[in-house]
Amino acid sequence: MKTIHVWPQEVTTADGLVTHSARIEDKEPFTLWFKAPIEHAELLTTRAESFVAGTLLLAMMRGADLRVHAPLSPSFLRNVEELQAIWSCWDTQFSPISINPDSESESTVEAPNRAISTFSGGVDSCFTVWRHTQNLCGRRALPLQTAIMMHGSEIDLHRSDMFEQALKRSETMLSAVDVNLVRMSTNFRYAMPFDYVSRWFGTMLAATLLLFQESHTTGLIPASFSYHGLVLPYASTPLNDPLFSTKRFVIEHDGAIGSRATKMKEIIQWPGVLENLRVCNHPEYAHINCGRCEKCVRNILTLRIVGVQDPHCFPNTLSNADIERIHMKDTDLEAMSRVVKAARAAGIEASWTTSVEKSIHLNARRARQNALRSRLKQRTPRPLWQAAKSMKRRLSATS
Ligand SMILES: [Zn+2]
Repeated sequence: MKTIHVWPQEVTTADGLVTHSARIEDKEPFTLWFKAPIEHAELLTTRAESFVAGTLLLAMMRGADLRVHAPLSPSFLRNVEELQAIWSCWDTQFSPISINPDSESESTVEAPNRAISTFSGGVDSCFTVWRHTQNLCGRRALPLQTAIMMHGSEIDLHRSDMFEQALKRSETMLSAVDVNLVRMSTNFRYAMPFDYVSRWFGTMLAATLLLFQESHTTGLIPASFSYHGLVLPYASTPLNDPLFSTKRFVIEHDGAIGSRATKMKEIIQWPGVLENLRVCNHPEYAHINCGRCEKCVRNILTLRIVGVQDPHCFPNTLSNADIERIHMKDTDLEAMSRVVKAARAAGIEASWTTSVEKSIHLNARRARQNALRSRLKQRTPRPLWQAAKSMKRRLSATS
């Protein structure tokens, strides 16, 4: 059996930042790091569970045991065994492995009873913060005091300008509900093999939260999907996220109870949200919302369902023609269909619903054509395929 060694490094400080890192001796060794402003240094632990969470799927993908040169929590190791069972059933590229620490011991630090959440500034993380700070979730409500915004997650590490603008939006929202924002950065997504969003994203969030395991009692990961439409396998779900917990620090997948419209209905009560909400996936506009990508459009339409027209957090008004021009991936078609269903359920008969249906139809047809083209390409000998392509080019040039 191959082995990946995890060597936690000394915590360092420079340029106003504290760095927690581990040297990962894989076939191509690298250093996995997380940075935070030095004023938050006392919130971060030196325990190594973060780096196990961060490298677990990599080791499972390589079929290599993890040799961790530090003590680990036995309750964490027990949970992670079940997590491995889930991933190895979900995706055959992941095989169960052994995790061998120097020794096993739980943390002895008694953390104050308070919760911390990851926070992107989008609908899901706003819903988590709002429902806990406003005591809207009954006995599930937690004393949520800290939110982490991670540079290097949705926004590229090289785009500091974009991250600063996105951070400012989050600060404005969070200051209204007395939640402290901790800005962090990591090289996680650059160090791990992709697909980041569907496989690695949740382990990055869990690894980040585990750095706070001795200063908080609960870490929250805002749910990406509701219980009505769980996507499995996926990087972050109610099944896998809690299995990063230790005996003393519980990680919860939070807010899957709400559909997007339900979440919107709640968070629009939060002063500042309609000016600062950030939902866009466009690499150039993720800090301000492009207002035209599928995700922006889906959120604008969901806001219409809950009675909000043209919110300030989107740059332009959205016409029916804009809706008909959006490009959707296969997975977006289902999400957009849910918007139409929610509009119908709310008794909305506006013309935009017809435009959404038209757009779904066009995108589904395009997806079918692409699938057919790709099947044909696979089955056609390469010279024949190239000849057909060149004939098509000639025909279109002469027409
Ligand atoms: Zn967008």
